Amino acid sequence: MNFTASDAISWLNTMNENMKMQQNHLTNLDRTIGDGDHGMNMAKGFKAVAEKLNSAAELYSVADIMKKSAIILMTTVGGASGILYATAFLRMAATFQDINVIDHTVFTKALQRAVDGLKLRGNVQYGEKTLLDVWVAMMQLFEKSAIFPTAVMIEQTARTAMEGTKVSVATKGKAALYQEASLGHIDPGAASTYYLFASLAETRKENVNE
Ligand code: ADP
Ligand code: MG
Repeated sequence: MNFTASDAISWLNTMNENMKMQQNHLTNLDRTIGDGDHGMNMAKGFKAVAEKLNSAAELYSVADIMKKSAIILMTTVGGASGILYATAFLRMAATFQDINVIDHTVFTKALQRAVDGLKLRGNVQYGEKTLLDVWVAMMQLFEKSAIFPTAVMIEQTARTAMEGTKVSVATKGKAALYQEASLGHIDPGAASTYYLFASLAETRKENVNE
């Protein structure tokens, strides 16, 4: 599969639909180990992204789509997640800039750069019970795969990583205030990031070129 501008638009539109459907679920997760705004933050941010992409007359490149989406998320989402999603998207955009064919190798590089950006911006490492845990798992899946992974692989990898956040103690963000009490709960940002990659899996499923 080569990742095109129409795939990127389909990916982010699907994410918007998922965020609408999962808003209450994400809010409940964030109520348990945070301040309860993650569902609203994500629903608001991705609604604005979808509106922008669907109203644009120009045909964007994948780099433009990721960059524009990052800026919208940064300006519409108040919480920590807005900056972090924007950072990951900007790193991906920088990787895609001036590249005509986005294949498995380029997409892997984009995930690596997103992970680096998140670590830096969040001052966070793998295993600290954040959205980074799902990004790292996805990067590793792409690294070990010779081709663009299947929809099933993408979805399952993201799901396992999200569920893995249950067994770690939060040391970053608002969840860190809960310390040991955060054990047993899924991190809200890891859950929304699961939906980001489940949305990518949906787009992958639609793509019959491979
Ligand atoms: P806020 O924490 O400002 O209320 P959200 O509720 O929208 O923002 O997002 C919370 C999520 O952001 C967390 O579940 C976690 O995944 C992620 N997060 C918060 N701080 C960090 C950090 N320093 N590094 C990585 N991820 C973080
Ligand atoms: Mg919150």
